[in-house]
Amino acid sequence: MSGLSSLALPHIAKLHAYTPGLQPTESGWVKLNTNKCPYPPSPRVAEALHRDIGDDGAVLRLYPNPKSSPLRATIAKLHALREENVVIGNGSDDILNLLIRAFCGPQDEETATGFTFPSYSLYPVLVEIQDGRSTVIEFDRSMRLPIERIAASKAGMFFLTSPNAPTGVGFTAAELEKILTSYKGLFVVDEAYALFAEENAVALLARYPNLVIVRTLSKAYALAGIRVGYALAHPEVIDLLDRVRDSYNVSRLSQTAAVAALGDSEYYASVVTKIKTTRDRSVSRLVNSGWFTYPSQTNFIFTEPKNARGESGPAVAKSAYDFLYARKVLVRYFASHALTASFLRISVGTDDEMLVLHENLDAWQNS
Ligand code: PMP
Repeated sequence: MSGLSSLALPHIAKLHAYTPGLQPTESGWVKLNTNKCPYPPSPRVAEALHRDIGDDGAVLRLYPNPKSSPLRATIAKLHALREENVVIGNGSDDILNLLIRAFCGPQDEETATGFTFPSYSLYPVLVEIQDGRSTVIEFDRSMRLPIERIAASKAGMFFLTSPNAPTGVGFTAAELEKILTSYKGLFVVDEAYALFAEENAVALLARYPNLVIVRTLSKAYALAGIRVGYALAHPEVIDLLDRVRDSYNVSRLSQTAAVAALGDSEYYASVVTKIKTTRDRSVSRLVNSGWFTYPSQTNFIFTEPKNARGESGPAVAKSAYDFLYARKVLVRYFASHALTASFLRISVGTDDEMLVLHENLDAWQNS
């Protein structure tokens, strides 16, 4: 050991980093572990990138638009809002990070950040990096939204993943509004999977200035590789986030790709419909084989495997995970908590990929 860690801030020296889903580099995997889109982005994206980069890439000498202004304008129009209501991030992780930087403080309750368990496991890591305080509200097995407990939270900011991850359970705008009528902190609704859901919270922005909505182009828009996310919020919140972000936080090519993608709503409507159809077929198949499976309003499925003896539980879920892994089918298993350890999270792939998945799950069950 060189002792360099002792030069770091103590809370950084003991930090546990976020663990992303495995990204195997060799081919042959059926990858259903990171909730990406199984289809390519709109063809307009590659066209726009080629146009922008030209034959010699000379345009890359230039810094990008520092505020991503054309992209802000595109997104504002998409949601019938104003440019002042939009900030762009290097993925929505960047937006979540900006929110923590601006609103999450050390030890007092007013600057604590709340979130539910389960939800997106990056939130506690971001709070730890900030050396901030967090408060956690646990779901029960029903995974229904604990409205009163969130509404009564004293945390200065609260992150809610809606629809939730990794369960896929959706919440109604009416449920979110019930929280907003009492909760006075900054209420951040992380709508990473909203395009697959029945409802979203955008209409509530007009009535609740403390509401922030976070979106990503990594899922339904099939652009995880370009890293674009955004927040919709009151101009005062947007101004604060603009003050703490990097001056050129979104690359030129990312801005170009995102504007092109958002202009092709017809293409994405058909991609989303296709994914939802595949999802619903898979959920029915799991439910028909007697596996408890939450209704999904996302592009992934949270299901509790049952073995041939009808048993379920952490050891059974781990055995299904290992069986799939050995056959190069990658899903996600969250061992660390009783609410998640009996389940697998399976991203919805193409119909062919889901066929391979189900054949292997059947083989596991009969093994
Ligand atoms: N929020 C949630 C709930 C997510 O699951 C993810 C992706 N894992 C993100 C935000 C971040 O997405 P990105 O940074 O790719 O925009």
